[in-house]
Amino acid sequence: MAAREGRHQVVVIGSGFGGLFGTKALKRADVDVTMVAKTTHHLFQPLLYQVATGILSQGEIAPPTREILSHQENARVLLGEVTDIDLTARTVTSQVLGRPTVTSYDSLIVAAGASQSYFGNDQFAEFAPGMKSIDDALELRGRIFGAFEWAEMGAMRGDNVDHHLTFVVVGAGPTGVEMAGQIAELANRTLKHDFRFINTRHARVILLDAAPQVLPPFGHRLGAKAQHELEKLGVEVQLGAMVTDVDERGLEVKDRDGTVRRIECMTKIWAAGVAANPLGRTLSEQTGAPLDRAGRIGVNPDLTLPGHPEVFVVGDMIALDNLPGVAQVAIQGAKYAAKEIRNRIDDRPPQAPFHYHDKGSMAIISRFRAVAMVGKLRLTGVLAWLMWLAVHLVYITGFKNRVTALLHWAVSFLGRGRSERTTTEQQIFGRAALKRLQGGAADLVSRPGAYDASRALLETTRRAELEAQAAEEARLSDENRRGVSVDR
Ligand SMILES: Cc1cc2nc3c(=O)[nH]c(=O)nc-3n(C[C@H](O)[C@H](O)[C@H](O)COP(=O)(O)OP(=O)(O)OC[C@H]3O[C@@H](n4cnc5c(N)ncnc54)[C@H](O)[C@@H]3O)c2cc1C
Repeated sequence: MAAREGRHQVVVIGSGFGGLFGTKALKRADVDVTMVAKTTHHLFQPLLYQVATGILSQGEIAPPTREILSHQENARVLLGEVTDIDLTARTVTSQVLGRPTVTSYDSLIVAAGASQSYFGNDQFAEFAPGMKSIDDALELRGRIFGAFEWAEMGAMRGDNVDHHLTFVVVGAGPTGVEMAGQIAELANRTLKHDFRFINTRHARVILLDAAPQVLPPFGHRLGAKAQHELEKLGVEVQLGAMVTDVDERGLEVKDRDGTVRRIECMTKIWAAGVAANPLGRTLSEQTGAPLDRAGRIGVNPDLTLPGHPEVFVVGDMIALDNLPGVAQVAIQGAKYAAKEIRNRIDDRPPQAPFHYHDKGSMAIISRFRAVAMVGKLRLTGVLAWLMWLAVHLVYITGFKNRVTALLHWAVSFLGRGRSERTTTEQQIFGRAALKRLQGGAADLVSRPGAYDASRALLETTRRAELEAQAAEEARLSDENRRGVSVDR
């Protein structure tokens, strides 16, 4: 798509729920849309735990944004991490491997989401990965399946392998509950015949939270039900337990009565706490809009920023009316922003303030067990699980992804298999290796000048080498000297 001269330019930051649905809602508007995002895919975060536990492949929950938008003529996709937004100049600066791009806008929708929060202890991240991206899920898959391998090797030597077979999930919200339930199913069903020296059913799965209940946003009754179902699966639920330290071999926990104890465990998963994208701070500094403790920015009731009606912020980045950090808030907010942009272009009056329509929440505990809350309705067990299945099938992007996800669910839920158990060393150690480089991945690619210089060198030296080698090959063949000892 070439930007049309004089046409209204919309920039959308992010290709998650807010970014994608905002861009699609502008399909019929007389605007050019540039979606800038730091990944080339649209990520369906609610199913990340299924990638981490080998049920789904990453492709099924992260289709390419370019493909999704390929038929939307007025939209283009630009890969890049946004590092600056200049509200006065109305520009967005993004970077790929150290190479910057500046994009101008008339209207801006910021939907950059949130990241994991370690409550000021970012050093925990190295040992207890969160679950926010495909990288996170693949790393966790490597660590979880890897833990059983280490345990098998240790048991073969006669070592104590309890710490390898202990899995701790920190945070008893929906992600933590889903993750703990799936690891328990892996140990109890999927892997039970695969090892010779360990009994995978002896694995300990611990779900920890500083809060006094599981799934607080679901209320007391559903929280207690979820806890009961988890315990039936063999998950140890430890509440009122605050993690105070994490290292390679385990973590330290402080209980409500002040007792400090240590849990020896190689695999830790952090599913507690989110922090809004740091772009919120950039916007706050330029507008004076307040930030809450999680870094979410206070927006006007129409999702714009104070003094900047051309800038909308949606989804996990906003603090407005205690809205939860869920996909529907982002989707509905982005559609609202897109409609407001269309109204302005078509000279229609503005909409009423943004109103969130709560369509309900659900969390899956294991196969055939879930809890769901829709309006006043509270569902548990198979009924809630079927509802979960239907809703997720509707929201997974793309027909082919729906079909393959359904097949993989049949493999895992009707059978006991997991279709996606492949793990690699890079999956587990790639992130740690990149972190050790000063400039990250940018250190691994040459600068444009250096590239030209090395190419010129290649031209002069390598060509001579190749010509000499070819001449020698031809001579050996012509003289029938192949296979003849050099001494003879
Ligand atoms: C593991 C997990 C499970 C969840 N389960 C549920 C659930 O069951 N139900 C539910 O409703 N919600 C669930 N959520 C929450 C839901 O996914 C979020 O509320 C939703 O994704 C928010 O949408 P968003 O558009 O604000 O942000 P996101 O969907 O996170 O999208 C942010 C986008 O911005 C991009 N980005 C970030 N920084 C930059 C930058 N600097 N430059 C360019 N691009 C950038 C990201 O790559 C991404 O494309 C879950 C979240 C997680 C992590």
